[in-house]
Amino acid sequence: MTFHVVTLFPESFDSYTSSSIIGRAVCNKKIKIKFYNPRDFTPDKWKRVDHKPYGGGPGMVLEAESVIKAVEKALTPSAPLIIWLSPSGKQFDNNYAEKISKKYKDVVIICGRYEGIDERVFKIIKKWKEVKMERLSVGPYVLTGGELPAMVILDTVARRIPGVLGKIESVEENRVSSPEVYTRPEVLEYKGKKYRVPKVLLSGNHKEIERWKEEKIKRFRK
Ligand code: SAH
Repeated sequence: MTFHVVTLFPESFDSYTSSSIIGRAVCNKKIKIKFYNPRDFTPDKWKRVDHKPYGGGPGMVLEAESVIKAVEKALTPSAPLIIWLSPSGKQFDNNYAEKISKKYKDVVIICGRYEGIDERVFKIIKKWKEVKMERLSVGPYVLTGGELPAMVILDTVARRIPGVLGKIESVEENRVSSPEVYTRPEVLEYKGKKYRVPKVLLSGNHKEIERWKEEKIKRFRK
């Protein structure tokens, strides 16, 4: 899968996308990440891409033309999904990630900044026949830009692509995922106290272990 990220700050992705599982997935060509910077497409002599909002208000708005051109550049013939990041969009979740990983080969993610992007970009892209676009939020809070949300989506989708995680069973849907996990040592000593791994996990009784995990999941949800 290729993620095409439209962002004014591609460098903010560098350390995350070159580390650990995502870094390995990029190296092994399980995923590709390409960047398109609206600043490279601005008609402005001084490379300016933001202006004051019509109707007043604080902050700046990203102007339409350079964002449209960046998205045009990102488009591929394979009918991509375009994700328009917005705190008031539909809540992104595991189900959505699963759908993306199964259905699309190319995903364009548009990162806003400041007060957001001129709405006419959304209206124009909505008319393009060959693409599907959706407003997505990563949660009920407002960040300063779409770069972290883009990385959240990229990570969540990428770990569902076969070969990205060591074992496909690591994806939650294929097993009971535990909200509480333990590793060595069996007894941890901290400031004179001993902290033990729950006995059931050492029992080798898989049925009991699964039941224990399900119990934990229920308790965490309360
Ligand atoms: N004024 C805008 C907020 C702009 S925040 C509004 O009220 O909707 C700046 C940019 O950060 C947004 O354009 C979006 O791309 C991104 N962003 C901020 N919080 C987000 C969230 N919870 N989910 C997805 N994107 C978010």
